[in-house]
Amino acid sequence: MSKVFVSNCESYDLEKVKTVIQHSIDELGGWGKYIEKNQKVLLKVNLIGPKKAEKAATTHPEFIRAVGQLIKEFGANVYIGDSSGGAIAGMAPTKKSFVVAGIKKVADEEAFTIINFDEVGPVKKEIEGNYSKELYITKALGEMDVVINLPKMKTHSMSVYTGAIKNLFGAIPGLRKAKYHKDGPNPLIFGEFLADIHKAIDNMPLHIMDGIVSMQGEGPTAGRTYPARKVLISEDPLALDRIAIEMMGIDPERVTILRASINRNIGVWERTSIDVLGDASKLKNYTLPKRYRKNKSTDYDKIKGVIDFLKAVPIVNQKKCVQCNSCVDGCPVEAIDRETKFIDYDKCIDCLCCHELCMNEAVELKSQKKLVNVIRAISSIFYK
Ligand code: SF4
Ligand code: SF4
Repeated sequence: MSKVFVSNCESYDLEKVKTVIQHSIDELGGWGKYIEKNQKVLLKVNLIGPKKAEKAATTHPEFIRAVGQLIKEFGANVYIGDSSGGAIAGMAPTKKSFVVAGIKKVADEEAFTIINFDEVGPVKKEIEGNYSKELYITKALGEMDVVINLPKMKTHSMSVYTGAIKNLFGAIPGLRKAKYHKDGPNPLIFGEFLADIHKAIDNMPLHIMDGIVSMQGEGPTAGRTYPARKVLISEDPLALDRIAIEMMGIDPERVTILRASINRNIGVWERTSIDVLGDASKLKNYTLPKRYRKNKSTDYDKIKGVIDFLKAVPIVNQKKCVQCNSCVDGCPVEAIDRETKFIDYDKCIDCLCCHELCMNEAVELKSQKKLVNVIRAISSIFYK
């Protein structure tokens, strides 16, 4: 039996959020059940892109502050990490996203440490996965004692819903996310990949969902806000997702990205095996994505084509390069030639470490297609 705590929380008032979260944690057995004093605790937030907090696309900075303060008061050290989406066409916005989403400000004020997953790079992990036998996952997870998942309650125009299970996709740094999206645009295959990530992480005992202001309609970035006024907490990410899905009015059977996690026992899915503590009644008039409402099927080949078209690669701009070799030394697969700075794309794993490490902005992200570079240049104006 898995427990899911569902608490009412009217706003992001710091003391209110802290009280609500602390109450559920006390019911679960207290922070000491999950964390030891002086340990490093990573809050894996949802930082999908450079979106302001009020858009509800990212975990709210005050929600992060509340969890972080509680952990700090317990006596542990707080880290905040993610790798943004949107890097496929070369925007690589993680650093900017932390600032725009208001998380950098909170981290500075509270002395929490930000970990940009694109900057620290990946580590190759051998796994017994269904999708893959090896995973290039952020080094940060292995360097932390405990990871706490802080997903956002949101709709998703393609996969209907995004929550605790899907939030771990950000553990894959850089452009490599595009490869996984391309290999598995079919949600059943993509779901296997998400289950692989969860199986590979063995230090993530807690999931705390920000559903105070959630996103409805065409999520995960272009939807409208919905004040759900809820905080969901569980040790079981799948049980948490099941309850959130029902609250949003989604038919659980239609969230196919979770099918693999169900089959591979990432958590409990059977409703009769989930003990809900609190008011998990259906949220009124929650707008679901158009594709879901019209029961539209998806042409996965088209998605593959779009990802292929948009795909960018790192290229060293020789005019800007000062030969410091930070990129060469930081590349986890030795794909950059020390003399010429040419990148061997057969070796490159798209982690973006070189791009993040170059202090001279000499590692640029370019598509092989001219049109995409024009689109990217125009888009970057709006990201500034
Ligand atoms: S980090 Fe930048 S400046 Fe240094 S060698 Fe690489 S591309 Fe050149
Ligand atoms: S060249 Fe190396 S550091 Fe740069 S993206 Fe490829 S694998 Fe990562």
